[in-house]
Amino acid sequence: MPIAVIGGTGIAAMTDLTDVRDETVETRFGTAHVTRGSWRGRELVFLHRHGPQRNVPPHRINYRANIAALKQLGVTAIFATTAVGGLHDDWHPGTLVLLDQFLDFTKSRPTTFFDLPQPLLAKEGSSGDSPPSQEGSGGGSPSSQEGSRRDDPLSQEGRRGDDPSSQQGSEGGDPSSQRGSEGGGFLGQGGRELPVHIDMTAPYCPRLRRLLLNVAEQMNLALIPQGVYACMEGPRFETPAEIRMLRMLGGDVVGMTGVPEVVLAREAGMCYAGVSIVTNYAAGISPNPLTHQEVLEAMAEHAPKLLRLFLAASEAYADEDCPCRHTLFEP
Ligand SMILES: [Zn+2]
Repeated sequence: MPIAVIGGTGIAAMTDLTDVRDETVETRFGTAHVTRGSWRGRELVFLHRHGPQRNVPPHRINYRANIAALKQLGVTAIFATTAVGGLHDDWHPGTLVLLDQFLDFTKSRPTTFFDLPQPLLAKEGSSGDSPPSQEGSGGGSPSSQEGSRRDDPLSQEGRRGDDPSSQQGSEGGDPSSQRGSEGGGFLGQGGRELPVHIDMTAPYCPRLRRLLLNVAEQMNLALIPQGVYACMEGPRFETPAEIRMLRMLGGDVVGMTGVPEVVLAREAGMCYAGVSIVTNYAAGISPNPLTHQEVLEAMAEHAPKLLRLFLAASEAYADEDCPCRHTLFEP
């Protein structure tokens, strides 16, 4: 099964792949754009979370379309990178941090695949008579005129486009293409009577984290073995007061895109590991005002070593069963 690499700011593409082709993936949450290729016999999918034009701001990224697309392509494991500000004085630009926890301060993003009112969840095998959507502002079809309900909300067919961001920017899907009935359940689980609350004790896959640590050691690449990612809404940078708060709360790095991506991957039953590249000192730590340009310059200098790590880890990856794949299946 293919492995995915999600890149962000400062990462234009995966180099060194063979048999490279760009593809557009339609999902019920919108459209995603990926580049597929091979690396030493391993099938890889590269997804730039900011879209093919690299211009979708963090709070407008269609995270659900991105993760749903990877799921549809059969991806089982995701290596994701984020450009971050460092919250420690001695974490210099270029520092690589293997994430193990996050703090979520986002405000306006769809954060789950399971956002339907429970009465709308379908029973497995039922069909047709879906009630009206209660999310009328979401731009989707208010009611279904089509076919049977689907159990898997990641299935392309079957649910209305309910993601406001799916109608905007390069990540946006065509609302008219998103039709169908309200989906319920998940991955063949059939109707669910209860809200879905997934476990986040270990939000980043422990198996992928071990793999990355081992590979980094073999490569003699410095990788801080754990870090707490504080996700802010953006697109503005943080105030010095916010940075002080994040440090007090245990944050190690601060960025704008790591959440809900990691959560959605877990909901979709995929292993996900995140490595952050410190591109600058956070506000109040840096002596100078923050600029996007310094982030880009730091990424240009330091991203290649992280991509080498991801490629080596992809080569060493064993596509074996993992608890991440069963989060929703456990009682
Ligand atoms: Zn896993």
